Formats: sequence, C-alpha cells, structure tokens
Amino acid sequence: TPIPDYLHEVLENTRDDGEVATYIPELARANPDLLASALCMSDGKIYAAGDIHERFTIQSISKPFVYALALQERGFETVLDKIGVEPSGESFNSASLDPRTQRPENPMVNIGAIATHALVRPEASRDERFEAVRAGLSAFAGRELDVDEAVYASEMGTAFRNMSLAYLVRSVDGFTQDPADIVEGYTRQCSILVDVRDLAVMAMTLANAGINPITQERVVDEHVAQQVLSVMTTCGMYDAAGDWMTQVGIPAKSGVAGGIIGALPGQVGAAVFSPRLDPVGNSVRGVQAFERFSGDMGMHLLKSP
Ligand code: GLU
Repeated sequence: TPIPDYLHEVLENTRDDGEVATYIPELARANPDLLASALCMSDGKIYAAGDIHERFTIQSISKPFVYALALQERGFETVLDKIGVEPSGESFNSASLDPRTQRPENPMVNIGAIATHALVRPEASRDERFEAVRAGLSAFAGRELDVDEAVYASEMGTAFRNMSLAYLVRSVDGFTQDPADIVEGYTRQCSILVDVRDLAVMAMTLANAGINPITQERVVDEHVAQQVLSVMTTCGMYDAAGDWMTQVGIPAKSGVAGGIIGALPGQVGAAVFSPRLDPVGNSVRGVQAFERFSGDMGMHLLKSP
C-alpha cells in the first residue's frame, strides 16, 4: 500500500476511549475527535494524514528538544552535573530529587525540565532565554514556531505546582535565576504551537544525528542527539516507559495536549496527534497508532534482524 493510504488506514482503525486533559480550561476545550499523523523520512519526504493543519501546544514534547539545546550550548559536564538520566519511577510532576545527588532525576519530569530550561542562556533575561528556546525549537522544526498565548495564560493561572518545583530545585542550587522567571519561560516553552508535520520533522532531526532533513541545518551535534534519544527511550512516556519500550520499542515523547513523537535513528521521525489521553497521560490513539507503526514496519529497536 502507498504510505498515505496506509496512514489513513492506521488512523481509522484506532479506537478512542480516553479523556482530554482538563487541568486547564484551554486544554479542556480541545476537540477530542481530532486525529492526525505524519512520518518524516531521512531524505526529508513527509507523509501525513488526518487533521494535519490542526495546531496544538507542544507541552512536554518540548522537553527533549530543550534538553538538546542545553547540552549543545553548555556541554555534557555542566548539564549532567545538574540533571540526572535515571527514570524516576514517580509521576511527571512529582516533587522529587535524587536522594543521593539532590539533582532532578531526569530532564523529562517537570522538575528536571524546569532546571533544563534554566540552563539555556543562564545570564540572559527571561525573554531572551525564551527566545533562544523558541528559535532552537524552530530550527528543529525548520519553520518559525509561535506561542499560544491563551494556553500560556491559562497555564500560568494555575502553575502553583510547577512554581513549587522550581523553588525546590532552586533550593539545592539546581539553577541561580529567579524561580518565577524560569517557570514563566518553561510554561511559554510548553505553549509553543506545532502541527504533526512539525513534530515529525523535529523527531527526524534527532533521528538524523542532529541535522534537520529539510533545511539541512545542523541543529545539534550527533552525540547530543544520541543522548537525547537515550533519555527518551528510558523516560519519555510518563509512567508507561516500560510498556512503550516492550510494545513499540523506539525513543519517544508524549505531551498532555495529545501529541506523541517517535524517532528511529537513521530511518523515520513519526508523530501522532489525538487529544484523548489514557490514565497515564499518553494519547490513546497515539499509542495505538505507534503500536501499528512498530509492528507493521518492524521499527522495534530490539527486533532481531
Ligand atoms: N505544561 C504542562 C506542565 O508542565 C506540561 C504537561 C505535559 O505535557 O506533561 O504541567
């Protein structure tokens, strides 16, 4: 079957029984029936199906890309000194630091992502730091990305938990800036608007050793891309990282607006968007579509050749 027909068939055969995120009004308003997917190949060719023009907020899918920007700008030693790479076994917004090192356990939980945001342009103002993040994510996407101001405002209205996480990690010298500035910047980062094609290109840039397959820009070094994919493999899917690794078997990251990306090194960047989430917080139809991709295309990293 041609790939576009295949994508339509996969989407049509997903079943939906989750609930859209309701922790802020702006996300609760999402149309639960939206559904889209895109695949970006290593030569930059993109196949897409469904509601492909629909834009949604990137949310936690921003975390691996900002981690990449921090590693690229500050180097491994500085970043690893501040943020670990161990799966936490706790929920994504837990107020927990590694008991031994007092660092956030990894950059995919909120406390680690907040500390990661602070590592980018540490001396810059809040707005300059956010602009560096926005420009960096845009380089991954190969297009200028903007912020959904309504989602940003809605998130900031109830950002009490993230604010407390920022103060907690600030208290152990996880960063030196004003915690409120860092939470505002992190929340803007989560409010960046993307569509499924953007996400597929961003995933393929990681899978392509850091080179955007469309613009050919080197966004990050090869060893940075490999580090980010490694952390996505162990920590990318909230509390379902083990289920994901066994059933799908590729580095991935999901976000609360319903996006999921997956990256298979040298081969494909994939994205699915569907707002209804399972109890862990992963898009229900997104997980099903990736299970199909993995099985049908033999994508599992540990599959015997
Ligand atoms: N802005 C959300 C938060 O930090 C992102 C949640 C997510 O996608 O997991 O709580």
